[in-house]
Amino acid sequence: MAETAWLSKKLPSGKVLCEACAQACKLGEGEYGICGVRKVENGELHLLVYGLAAAVNVDPVEKKPMFHFLPKSKAFSLGTVGCNFSCTFCQNYDISQFPKEHDHQIVGHEMPPERIVELALEYGCDSIAYTYNEPVVFFEYTYDTAKLAHEKGLKNIYVTSGFETSKAIDLLAPYVDGMNIDIKGFTEEFYHEICGGRLKPVLNAVKHAHDKGIWVEITTLLIPGKNDSDEEIRGIAKFIADVDPAIPWHLSAFHPTYKMLDVPRTPTSTLLRAYKIGQEEGLKYIYVGNVDDEDHESTYCPGCKKRVIDRSGTIGQYVTNELDENGTCPYCGYVLEGVWH
Ligand code: SF4
Repeated sequence: MAETAWLSKKLPSGKVLCEACAQACKLGEGEYGICGVRKVENGELHLLVYGLAAAVNVDPVEKKPMFHFLPKSKAFSLGTVGCNFSCTFCQNYDISQFPKEHDHQIVGHEMPPERIVELALEYGCDSIAYTYNEPVVFFEYTYDTAKLAHEKGLKNIYVTSGFETSKAIDLLAPYVDGMNIDIKGFTEEFYHEICGGRLKPVLNAVKHAHDKGIWVEITTLLIPGKNDSDEEIRGIAKFIADVDPAIPWHLSAFHPTYKMLDVPRTPTSTLLRAYKIGQEEGLKYIYVGNVDDEDHESTYCPGCKKRVIDRSGTIGQYVTNELDENGTCPYCGYVLEGVWH
């Protein structure tokens, strides 16, 4: 179900430049992008996974993770095969790396944008989340779906590695209401050696998405010995605080998977160390994830320090939200930042 990947331009050399992500692939006839799902055919770039969902679920929005975005609601979640990164610790490598590991094979269930929106409404979801693999690689599919979803009163969430070009973010901004962006580490070496990407474009995307008025939350998976030094953690915290101290920061525990089986799970003490560093750098909302820790998964009012959103059980299982529809604290009147209605 290939469609034109219109976020691209023809170069004087005859090649086509893909403008979706910072890999900036320049492709000749018959060539595939690094993501494995964008290919030049008959002189034009095509999106090979348009309308082909490889993973579909109805998830609690907390699972994205989005904690300041319609708490307790359901997000219709979908992904395709393909990814512009090659993280050796990928938790969804079976779909993200599928085309690269199966000789460019494309798989998925036919699900055009209209059907996704229909199903999201049928299942009582308040949003559609483009997730599981990197959504910018299937940009045109997300764009058409998000536009239609808005017309039907649904919100849209991008769960992304933050490698979008500024042009992609500008185009998405009117329709994408929230983004959870990974800052996977804080050195170029980490991005280069472990992810097949670069840090700088990610930091630019965080700033740009925030400037465009998209609600941004950040996730960092802390991997023992790889990205968990005080220096790197503080670097990320400082960066977020500089953009906006109200951006929620999710600190997630690693468990051995895919090609990174020789590294142990993240100890809780590392998550709590990072939590403290985030507080020292002035971040207002910090959360731990992939561990059972109600105290550090709940939201506290920055005004009076009372717990105003309680989260317990498995993720999204028990959520008690005391804020009103504007995010106002019932104890002191402080308005918490987020998308609450
Ligand atoms: S989306 Fe794919 S084809 Fe486009 S620049 Fe990124 S990796 Fe290359």
